[in-house]
Amino acid sequence: MRCTKCKGTAQVEVRRHHTAFCGPHFLEWFEAQVDRAVRRERMFTPQDRVLVAVSGGKDSLVLWDVLLRLGYQATGLHLNLGIGGYSQESQEKCEAFARDRGAELLVVDIPAEYGVGVEGLAQLTGRVACSACGLSKRYLFNRVAVDRGFDVVATAHNLDDEAAVLLGNLIAGNVDALVRQTPVLESTHPGLARKVKPLYRIAERETAAYAVLRGIDYVLDECPNSAGARSLLLKEALNLLERDAPGTKQSLYWNFLEKVRPLLRTASEPVALRSCVHCGQPTTAEVCAFCRMTERVARKLQSRVAVSAARREPVAASSGGGGGPA
Ligand code: AMP
Ligand code: ZN
Ligand code: ZN
Repeated sequence: MRCTKCKGTAQVEVRRHHTAFCGPHFLEWFEAQVDRAVRRERMFTPQDRVLVAVSGGKDSLVLWDVLLRLGYQATGLHLNLGIGGYSQESQEKCEAFARDRGAELLVVDIPAEYGVGVEGLAQLTGRVACSACGLSKRYLFNRVAVDRGFDVVATAHNLDDEAAVLLGNLIAGNVDALVRQTPVLESTHPGLARKVKPLYRIAERETAAYAVLRGIDYVLDECPNSAGARSLLLKEALNLLERDAPGTKQSLYWNFLEKVRPLLRTASEPVALRSCVHCGQPTTAEVCAFCRMTERVARKLQSRVAVSAARREPVAASSGGGGGPA
């Protein structure tokens, strides 16, 4: 196979575009694709301050790398989710990436801020881990962006992610989610940041190829909680279609954006937002879902401390140690 541009030996085939590229021409093509998506959808300009949500995985570090190379002002935001060695390694990859490029990285350590990681937040409030994790991400991305005056939040959702989410939303008939599924989500409230997905036209295997060719060091492991997740099943189903009919994912998602979503826009009522009485973030309720979750957890953790202190007291008294609760 030959590179479409220079006729040299091709290293990466892009079947859905009927093209193939050598390494340097693939990198050039990839960056141009991202830049075109940013400009075409008016996501941001070089004057804007962009907060890039980086997990330490390939997609988000690739996104950050490309935005920096294209000359955008991109600051990283990493959330340490408190999922054992996986989270520690993820944070280290983000820090090493930032250090190598002299880029700014902000870190929110969820266990340090809220007493437990996302699995603990889930367990103590009767949720599944992915629901507590998703809620924490949505809340913290927005909060950091608004508090620190960023113009926009960029996440690394790619074509495979978006096509799988779309399929799931269609199966569930989730009209509100379909209306919100767009590469640019405008702010509808002063406390809500704009949200963009600059990789929405890029397939996952292309970000993997980019990461390898650029030597980007990322966490190879998937989140341990994602095993068996429905999103993986949907991705598998789409990969099966893609194998025999290249371009299926792209057609599904792009046709949805161009032809179907415009018809849906009026199908969803805009929701009235007010400020959470505890944190000030926009919400439909009096207290936002994140504050409800973290406050419930704080109460449970406090009562645990009280119980264990009460259990320790007689021991301390009998040993004459005289120590209060640790
Ligand atoms: P996910 O919710 O895991 O599908 O991730 C969606 C997007 O959120 C990714 O493309 C990243 O941009 C971002 N992201 C995921 N995990 C983290 C994290 N721990 N810290 C910061 N950003 C993240
Ligand atoms: Zn070439
Ligand atoms: Zn709140």
